[in-house]
Amino acid sequence: MTKHNINFAKATFKDFENISGIDAFERAAFFQEFTDYMKDNEQMNFRFLTTKKGNGPEMWVTSPFNDEPIKCVSLVSNDYLNFTQHPKVKQATVEAIEKYGTGAGASPLIGGHHEYHEMLQKKISSFFNRPPETALVFTTGYTANSATLLALLKKDDIAIVDMAVHASVYEGCKDTNIKIFLHNDLDVLERALKEAQSKYQTKLVIIDGVYSQDGDLAKMREILALTKQYGAYLMVDDAHGIGVLGKTGRGAIEVFDLLDQVDIITGTLSKAFGHIGGFVVASPEIINFLKFQSRQQVFSSTSTPAAAGLIKAMDLIDEEPEWREKLLHNVIYFKKGLTDMKLNIGHTESAIIPVKIGDAHKTGHAGRLLLLAGVYANTIVYPGVARKNARIRTSLMATHTKEQLDLALNAFDYVNQKLHISL
Ligand code: PMP
Repeated sequence: MTKHNINFAKATFKDFENISGIDAFERAAFFQEFTDYMKDNEQMNFRFLTTKKGNGPEMWVTSPFNDEPIKCVSLVSNDYLNFTQHPKVKQATVEAIEKYGTGAGASPLIGGHHEYHEMLQKKISSFFNRPPETALVFTTGYTANSATLLALLKKDDIAIVDMAVHASVYEGCKDTNIKIFLHNDLDVLERALKEAQSKYQTKLVIIDGVYSQDGDLAKMREILALTKQYGAYLMVDDAHGIGVLGKTGRGAIEVFDLLDQVDIITGTLSKAFGHIGGFVVASPEIINFLKFQSRQQVFSSTSTPAAAGLIKAMDLIDEEPEWREKLLHNVIYFKKGLTDMKLNIGHTESAIIPVKIGDAHKTGHAGRLLLLAGVYANTIVYPGVARKNARIRTSLMATHTKEQLDLALNAFDYVNQKLHISL
C-alpha cells in the first residue's frame, strides 16, 4: 500500500514525522492507517502489550493473538535487580505515602520541594561519594538529560556526542551546536575536539556508560583523557550501569574508577532502583544553576512521596550485594547459552544482551515466534537502531531462575532452527 510516497511494507515510524502537503491531524489519520496495516500484517503485535501483574522475571501479558492472558518469561524489563517487588522497598514506599501523601503539589521552585526530595538528593550525592548539594532529582531519566542540557548549552557552546547516546540527549541539544562522533571512535572524537577547541565557549562531550541497544560500555578512560586534553567537559549518562555494574554498584563509571572525575553524571531511578525519576550529579554551582534555570525544575512538579522508597533501594545496593551477584551470574549463564548457539550478541558487557539478526522482517518474525514459545523480548528496528541492525533485545534480572533462562534459551534455539539467525 503506497500513499504520500510512503510504502507501508517498508515504512518506519520516522517516515510519518513530516509529510509535505498534509497537516498534523491528517498525518495522524494517515499514521492510524499505517498502524492498522501493521496490525493486520502481524507486525505490531508486541507493542504496548498489556501485562496483568507487575514486573518480574515472569509476566502475564495479554496475548496479541487471542487476547487471553499468557505467562511469559520476561526479557523486556530494566528492573535489573527486581527492586520493584522488593518487600523492603515496597514498605518504605508505603510508609512514605502514609507520611507525606501522594503528590508534591507544585514545582520544586515554588512550593513542591519537600523533605523527602531533600533526603533523596542527599542520598544520591553520598551514593556517589560527593558532598551534599551535588545532586538534583528530575521526574524521569529522560528529563534529567534533556532539561539539564537545554539549560546548560546555548548557541556559543557545543555538545560532542557519541552517536549511540539516548534520544533524551539529542533532545537536550536542540538549543546548541552538536557534533556527533562514531560510536566509541576516539580518532573521530579527537578531530571533533580539535575543531571545536577555539570555536565554542563550552565543549561538552556526552556519552553513555552502558549503551542501551548493544549493552556495551563507553571507552571511558580514553574519552576522558581526550576531553581534558582539549579543555572540554565530560557528561556520562549511566542509566543502565548505576546499581548494576562496578564493585559497589556505582555503575560503569566505577568500573573505570572515574567516579571523582566525570563532570556531570546523569542517571535514572526507573531501572536498577525500581521506581521512576532521574537525577543529575555535578558541582554545587551547576546544581544551583539547574535548580533555577532548568525548565523542568521551575515549571513542573517532580517526584511524588513514593520516591522516598528509593532511599531504601539505594541502601540495598550496599546492604544486599547478592542481587548484583545473582544478576551477574544470570548474565554469564545466558550469554554462554546464546553464544553456544552461535548467535550474535555483539560486545555486551552488561545485563542488556542483544541477539543481532539484521533484517527487520526476520527480527519481527523471531519476536513473534519467541512470544508464542512463552518468551517476551523486544524487537528493535529502525529508527531504534540502523536499518540493517535489527535485533531482539533481551535484558536480564537478578530474579530469573535457571529454569526460566533455560526456557528462553530453548526458545531461541527453536527460532534459530526455523529462521537461521546464527552467525
Ligand atoms: N538514558 C538511557 C541510556 C536510557 O536507556 C533511558 C531509558 N530508556 C533513559 C536515559 C531515560 O530514562 P527514563 O526511562 O527514566 O526516562
